[in-house]
Amino acid sequence: MPRRFSAKRLVVASHNKGKVTEIADLLSPFNLDIVSVAELALPEPEETGKTFVANAVLKAEAAVQGSGLPCLADDSGLAVEALDGDPGIYSARWAGPNRDFNMAMALVNEKLGENSNRRAYFISVLSLAWPDGHVENFEGRIYGTMVWPPRGAGGFGYDPTFLPDGYEQTFGEIPYDEKQKISHRAVAFQKLIDGCFQGS
Ligand code: IMP
Repeated sequence: MPRRFSAKRLVVASHNKGKVTEIADLLSPFNLDIVSVAELALPEPEETGKTFVANAVLKAEAAVQGSGLPCLADDSGLAVEALDGDPGIYSARWAGPNRDFNMAMALVNEKLGENSNRRAYFISVLSLAWPDGHVENFEGRIYGTMVWPPRGAGGFGYDPTFLPDGYEQTFGEIPYDEKQKISHRAVAFQKLIDGCFQGS
């Protein structure tokens, strides 16, 4: 059984304002005082882990160390089957220092070449860490196929080239609210809420 969250304050270990707002929205039914590491002026640790879980835990634990409060971190990315799971934990880094995702999407497509296996999934790992060292991790995935050329102007990152199973629109074409319901992050969040927050 996951540990239930009973504190009043929760630190979100992200410097991304959009992500912090999204997390605060998802947790709004639980009346928490949510504060970000940016507001606490805590630095972002280097993501030196070799897995999504390792990086999520590393970020959550660094924030606990800096704040003395329970902290929530996430790590996510795209894993392409025929590329042995790449770009994986390097999903953001494939876009280079300018965060050029047109380049990153083209790179994935180029590496796939004529390969007929275009299966892929997005993955999100959430890590909730407490000051006594306890950690709970939750994982969400959504499976689909990589398409080319990119389709749709919505979403971010690799969205215009990802066609989720059972849909005819890419993540770049699907309306925002719909993506929020079915995404890897939505699945991980539902597990987190069921495990640690529901009923509290
Ligand atoms: P991070 O977890 O914020 O470090 O995100 C890692 C990278 O994964 C992002 O920069 C995106 O490239 C990619 N990624 C994660 N989630 C999504 C998504 O929902 N759509 C598209 N790309 C995503």
